Amino acid sequence: MLSGLDLACETTRPYLCTGFDIYLAWEPCPMCAMALVHQRIKRIFYAFPNPRVGALGSVHRLQGEKSLNHHYSVFRIHIPDKALSEIFLEKLKD
Ligand SMILES: [Zn+2]
Repeated sequence: MLSGLDLACETTRPYLCTGFDIYLAWEPCPMCAMALVHQRIKRIFYAFPNPRVGALGSVHRLQGEKSLNHHYSVFRIHIPDKALSEIFLEKLKD
């Protein structure tokens, strides 16, 4: 039996991940990119392309597939070399 609060939450929760953004280090493979389609993600941000199996521009371009019933926006984040070297130097200290 649902309480009034449960009913209120049920009506305000989005369907799956509708309207959510996700931030990834690596460009996802086709299987992971399709999982994000099924979850109804709104926007994907990733930093590093995956030249072997990348599904968002490197090898495939899933976001442009017209036969899919959901499409997300894709953005590549450019991390400055100086910031990357600082991150890796910090990791070496650990
Ligand atoms: Zn994957």
